[in-house]
Amino acid sequence: MLWHLPRRWSASMSSHHLLEIRSERRNQLIDITGRIQKMVADSGVADGMAHIFVPHTTAAVTINENADPAVQSDMLGFLAKLIPEKADFRHSEGNSDAHIKSSLVGAQATVFIEGGNLILGTWQGIYFCEFDGPRQRRVLIKIVPN
Ligand code: ZN
Repeated sequence: MLWHLPRRWSASMSSHHLLEIRSERRNQLIDITGRIQKMVADSGVADGMAHIFVPHTTAAVTINENADPAVQSDMLGFLAKLIPEKADFRHSEGNSDAHIKSSLVGAQATVFIEGGNLILGTWQGIYFCEFDGPRQRRVLIKIVPN
């Protein structure tokens, strides 16, 4: 089933930040590190946590290498081999591969904030993972001070 955010979520957005994402391919990793770092900077929170949540059943979030783009294509390529789009699935919408990838990769990540910056390894970036695009997507970010 397609999943829609309840209207009340947008009414109570004061404690969340909302990232709008337009994916362009069925399977795609989108680097959202810079946009989340800007939210952290704008929030004025110097020390705390950034919780990142993907409210979709066919997308995910992961933290991985931001240097060699081949890592991203290897990850998507290996997931596609592991979970083929067409297999003996029963779900009538025809996107069971995307649902399985979403659960395997996961809907959330948490990153420490220190000195107003996301604490990530030198080669780490935060990626929105599209598995059933192209679509308009949302990522919720909650920035919590210590
Ligand atoms: Zn489905």
